[in-house]
Amino acid sequence: MADTTTNEAKISIKVFVDKVKKRVVYAEADHSFVDILFSLMTLPLGTIVKMLGKHADTKFEALGSLNNLYQSLKDIPESYFATEECKFMLLNPRSLSYDHCKNLKLKIDRTKPVKYFICESCRSKGYRTSCYYSICNKAICKICGGLMNTPHSFDSSICVGDGGVFVSDIGNFIVTDDFYVMPYSVAGIFRLLTDLGINDTSHLEEIKLDMDSEQMVFLLKIALSLDSPFTRLIFHRNNPIRTGLVVYGHGSTSDRSAFIKKEKSTCSNIVLEISLQKLTGKLLFAEAKEDFAEFLFGLLSIPLGTVVGTLMNGASSISCMDNIFKSISNMSVGRYLKSQDIKDMLLEPHFGQEYSSKNKLFPIKGTRTLLEVSMPNTSAANQKSQVLKDMLLKKRCTASYQLKDPRLNKQLLLQSSMFFVTNDLVISPSSSQLAMNTLNKLKVKLDDIEKYEISIGLEEVSNSKIKFFGLRLLKAALRSRSTLTSILEHHLKK
Ligand SMILES: [Zn+2]
Repeated sequence: MADTTTNEAKISIKVFVDKVKKRVVYAEADHSFVDILFSLMTLPLGTIVKMLGKHADTKFEALGSLNNLYQSLKDIPESYFATEECKFMLLNPRSLSYDHCKNLKLKIDRTKPVKYFICESCRSKGYRTSCYYSICNKAICKICGGLMNTPHSFDSSICVGDGGVFVSDIGNFIVTDDFYVMPYSVAGIFRLLTDLGINDTSHLEEIKLDMDSEQMVFLLKIALSLDSPFTRLIFHRNNPIRTGLVVYGHGSTSDRSAFIKKEKSTCSNIVLEISLQKLTGKLLFAEAKEDFAEFLFGLLSIPLGTVVGTLMNGASSISCMDNIFKSISNMSVGRYLKSQDIKDMLLEPHFGQEYSSKNKLFPIKGTRTLLEVSMPNTSAANQKSQVLKDMLLKKRCTASYQLKDPRLNKQLLLQSSMFFVTNDLVISPSSSQLAMNTLNKLKVKLDDIEKYEISIGLEEVSNSKIKFFGLRLLKAALRSRSTLTSILEHHLKK
């Protein structure tokens, strides 16, 4: 729940609305607002799910099936995971930009910072070169078998310097209704008005908005489901939620059977057994082994900026997020973005989860090394930025710690578990009771079901077919509640 104390920080923005067309033309905001928009790129999808879940408004169903995916992960008993750490790690994806984001004016990410734990016994023996850390205090040390439960802080004091966190405070910014951000200029505004076909500015009216963190989260939630979040916020239009929802799976049975191919399965394939309704061809549910569930759960650890940029080339189909990404790409370093490092961090956010599914469907690498540094013993709070900069230069690396692999035989989930997966990505350990309940709910009789097996060959990684499958799945999960239907239909049509 949001902090309800009256002295909570607020961000003021000016919104310019077209009174006649009842739409927002643009907003004028300072660095603190833009910092928050940009910070979204650094947050793992699971963190965004958690952040939006804390907002009471349920009118907007942002992030397609990812809410179900996160809830399923929470609900699956620990006994299905290879170790307790695996579940903990998947549920608490690390954002390596957390220390930057905690300096934002409004605290939108209320998740607790990740803590680090080490094995005290090994450290006291001086095993520095092969030290491990874990983010879960129940991990077992790989060297001595002891419990890794001693909290350890890796120096992460971030010197944000003057001005904003990511952008400088030298001037204001223009933010369009679909979240494209550019430095403020009169020429820029005129261009925008012309592009929108607005010649007569007498219809424009300025509205001042004071936003606290809860309202900010609400705006972001709208931005993850609609193309014009400001307009929706100001005019409370009952826009249909434009989630790109497509109703799949209504082809006739004969059509569908014709393009379903049963593939030979080899050991390196992810196999899905899907159940369709004969009468309608509708996908009822799928069953898969732990490898598919691991892949799905792993999606929650990927930062939004990596999804939009590295994986989807700036075209995630969530317009506002694509526009934020584009704005950062186009913004110059120095004058507006504070440094090249900041720009890189936003466009290619560090991926804090090195140990994911054995069958990697995406070629992204995580970060597992943390450095222990020694710093002069001075109170950072009293330092001016130049002094801090000097201190950072004087820091000496004294040891590097590797993230301990929490998996067993490179598996996050125990082998041989079967999982039941619904169209909108509710995943649970398979049981006949569950299947029967689902059929009853969907009002489908047992003799109206046909089963197909499809397999996704992992040996095809080199020709990027797998990446293509993974991307389709991710895109469908982000925007649609019929995730499985949309990806499987495509896969089966080949
Ligand atoms: Zn140890």
